[in-house]
Amino acid sequence: MTAQVLNGAEVAEHIKQTVAARVIELAELGVKPGLAVVMVGDNPASKVYVGSKVKTCQALGLHSEKYELPADTTTERLLQLVDDLNSRDEIDGILVQLPLPPQIETRRILEAVDPAKDVDGFHAYNVGKLVRGDDALVACTPAGVMALLDYYKVPLAGANAVVIGRSDIVGKPMAMLLLHRHATVTICHSRTKDLPAVARQADILIAAIGRTAMVTGDFVRDGAVVVDVGMNKATTEEEIRRIFSDAEQPKRMEDLSKRGYTLVGDVEPRTVAEKASWLTPVPGGVGPLTIAMLMKNTISAAEMRRLKRTA
Ligand code: NAP
Repeated sequence: MTAQVLNGAEVAEHIKQTVAARVIELAELGVKPGLAVVMVGDNPASKVYVGSKVKTCQALGLHSEKYELPADTTTERLLQLVDDLNSRDEIDGILVQLPLPPQIETRRILEAVDPAKDVDGFHAYNVGKLVRGDDALVACTPAGVMALLDYYKVPLAGANAVVIGRSDIVGKPMAMLLLHRHATVTICHSRTKDLPAVARQADILIAAIGRTAMVTGDFVRDGAVVVDVGMNKATTEEEIRRIFSDAEQPKRMEDLSKRGYTLVGDVEPRTVAEKASWLTPVPGGVGPLTIAMLMKNTISAAEMRRLKRTA
């Protein structure tokens, strides 16, 4: 078997088109959704993410503002900025790019964001609503994975879903979303015993670990649907030969010689594609969906707060 591609980039385009159409409808009601993106320090990966979030806002007709604060910013200074953004009517979404420098109390910052503007879905209020199954602003990456599974009509009710990773940002909300859709959910982490055996129970396997190509074919039951959330770098020819199929290797070697790395997920595509029925590529899988869902959340936040509509 060779897995079919769960094309996240295509689904993201579809979501962005819906967002762009909604922006036009909202303009007729006098509402222009606005997103403020806040970054502290000059982490190169964060700069790339923030840049593409702002660019996507512009492409879809949303108002956007970018705040770049120096690396030695204090918690108090950042709280002031968040407060200011909370009070401005034209700002519907506030995103504080993580990770923040060590002197900043991250949790205090995330809890200071008005839950109605919490487009990342990280505030305890929105997490609580998600757990209860109420309408809420939900973390963009797991919400994007759900949009992908729905687009490809992957049956969820009664399916065995195994989520590897229990972070607040991906693993936990992912598990909760699958549970609400009646999957039987197992959450795994670094202390899970015999992880490959647990993973092999999955009809739907979600890898959100942050370990290059850790999930091999040995983790996958024949015919499983595999979603790779991971974003890591392979930096040697040896890794590329181990991780990628013969057909994929030339392009990856080219990446390596041009940039010094090629992007790779938590899944080893060479061995997993032989077992899975469907698999997300990296890049072009979950990554584009995260940004598309951020745009969707900003629209929902604008509708909920300014037009008093539900999510
Ligand atoms: P994280 O906070 O570091 O969490 C990683 C999770 O994986 C933890 O729960 C950890 O277990 C578990 N884990 C680590 N090593 C393991 C092992 N050997 N066996 C089993 N479980 C293990 O990471 P995250 O923020 O959730 O991100 C996960 C990955 O997704 C990263 O590659 C990140 O770059 C990527 N990501 C991608 C997007 C996107 O848009 N595509 C968005 C967000 C994140 P413990 O809890 O026991 O430590």
